Amino acid sequence: MVFSYKTRNEEIQKVQDEELDLLVIGGGITGAGVAVQAAASGMKTALVEMQDFAEGTSSRSTKLVHGGIRYLKTFDVEVVNDTVKERANVQHIAPHIPKPDPMLLPIYDEAGATFNMFSAKVAMDLYDRLAGVTGKFANYTLNKSEVLERQPQLEKEGLQGGGVYLDFRNNDSRLVIENIKKAHEDGARVLNKVKVVKITHDQQGMVNGADVQDVISGRNFHINAKVVINTSGPWTDEVRDLDKKDDLSDQMRPTKGVHLVVDKEKLNVPQPTYFDTGENDGRMIFVVPREDKTYFGTTDTDYHGDLKHPKVTQEDVDYLLRIVNRRYPDAKIGLDDIEASWAGLRPLITANGGSDYNGGGGSEKLSDESFNKVVNTTKEYLEDSAKRDDVEKAIQEAGSAQDSGEVDPSQISRGSSLEEASDGLVTLSGGKITDYRLMAEGALKKINKKLDNQFDLIDSKEYPVSGGDIDPDNVDEEIEKLAKQAQDKGLNEKDALYLANLYGSNLPTVLTYDEPIKGLSQRDSFSLNYALNEELVLTPVDYFLRRTNFILFIRDELDALEQPVLDKMAEFYQWSDEEKANYQKELAEVVAESDLKELKEDEYRE
Ligand code: FAD
Repeated sequence: MVFSYKTRNEEIQKVQDEELDLLVIGGGITGAGVAVQAAASGMKTALVEMQDFAEGTSSRSTKLVHGGIRYLKTFDVEVVNDTVKERANVQHIAPHIPKPDPMLLPIYDEAGATFNMFSAKVAMDLYDRLAGVTGKFANYTLNKSEVLERQPQLEKEGLQGGGVYLDFRNNDSRLVIENIKKAHEDGARVLNKVKVVKITHDQQGMVNGADVQDVISGRNFHINAKVVINTSGPWTDEVRDLDKKDDLSDQMRPTKGVHLVVDKEKLNVPQPTYFDTGENDGRMIFVVPREDKTYFGTTDTDYHGDLKHPKVTQEDVDYLLRIVNRRYPDAKIGLDDIEASWAGLRPLITANGGSDYNGGGGSEKLSDESFNKVVNTTKEYLEDSAKRDDVEKAIQEAGSAQDSGEVDPSQISRGSSLEEASDGLVTLSGGKITDYRLMAEGALKKINKKLDNQFDLIDSKEYPVSGGDIDPDNVDEEIEKLAKQAQDKGLNEKDALYLANLYGSNLPTVLTYDEPIKGLSQRDSFSLNYALNEELVLTPVDYFLRRTNFILFIRDELDALEQPVLDKMAEFYQWSDEEKANYQKELAEVVAESDLKELKEDEYRE
């Protein structure tokens, strides 16, 4: 299915003559999730994204599909229950993207520690029970020397031991593009670099579409739609401001989160690792191996700046390096070791007290008590002075105490919000990537109701994204089989696996794009040709940052690839010299920002 600038141009024409059932504003994971379910259910759908798909928060996450074990500390059973179940659903519909990757949880004896060895074990058992995890991925504990055997670089002092439990690594921007491609395949008009500039109304004052601008040509046009949904993440309030009749109050309170990437020679962790900051600030940090790199994060600070360009500051770097060097004292990571970075904005909802999930604010005291009660009852059970039923009861009581009266009825999943203004504009915001399918499912029910329940909604738990047509219970074997096809085309095993993991069941299509590109390997020629023809990639940055991860995790190869990719794109799009130079400049700026060039130069000046 061709999905390129050619189809984009045609669809810009077509969309102006149609009356759509649904217009989706924003092409992050929330909008992509809504579009895919709407198109598959037969709704005439369009999605407009003012930047590239996933250029907002959805390419800037920690890149995990996780159940949030730390919420078990505050005993948010429902939150964890929802998210671990959704984690399984997302793995089922996009089996080539989230991959199981057990997480190491080192436990230190220090002020403000989230868990001790015993409470960590209780939390992990609960976590597995809620997720239905058994067998090879069931959690287990390690003593101090076993933890150090795995990660000799970890600080020994205060280390009590650790736990290992199942989480999933994710490729956030690829999850978005695979949803987008599926929506397009099912007939949705999906346009990047098209911005909503005004929400429009009929004579009764009800929303009937939007005025939009093609950011590339500068041309404005109108899209008619019976229902309009705002899924613009951190921009939610800005888009509401484009609807002069929206009578709902502002709802977003974005916070910034930063991640830094170093070479694995500098910090080598064999598996994702998650620990307290050691700053007694109630926060925890992930350290994750990826390709031949290791990344860590995140920070969490209130943000009031430019939503398009959150930047990594010296304070962010100082905070993360202090923590990571505390836990890995021999690593001695400095600013110069940072090879790449990214900053994203959490689309948090003010009504949740700025927390990702409902459990964050106000209820901690109760939650701590509940958690301690479960821990103590479990201890008694192990000492034979309590029955198993007592443990179950303590869990239930804690769960219902935490649960009572806390969930705003507008929430489909914790931390998300689905609202409708009196002029009919629907807004879906907050949540996490992990919850995207569930959030979209809730929104679709509302949208269908507004459309007189004309449509039979699909079962989105059983509707794979593009590239996801592989058996979710046998992913490794399926990926290997696909990789063999790439090897038959002459790729070595490593490159073949790389492509199979990136494209899943679309790999056979990718392999039809076998025209060599001057200066690129066979692997990268396949990848770029496919991105140009089937993934609506419009600029070198789109390609290097969101269709692939060269800027973040394959930095060593990037410099050599820049010119051949630019040349090919210039030829494909027939760019003038000036246009080509502008795209080259944009790429250089994005790479310099990711490299933290400015901060590094400032350091030398001092
Ligand atoms: P966005 O991805 O920001 O998408 C909104 C889109 O709307 C943008 O692309 C924007 O350009 C577009 N837009 C805005 N205005 C307009 C307009 N006028 N016209 C057209 N388009 C417009 N979640 C997890 O599940 N796992 C994690 O590991 C995780 N880690 C995180 C770490 C950090 C640091 C952060 C910040 C978030 C993390 N999250 C994680 C949360 C998750 O990333 C977000 O909840 C999710 O990406 C939000 O997606 P969205 O589609 O709502 O917003």
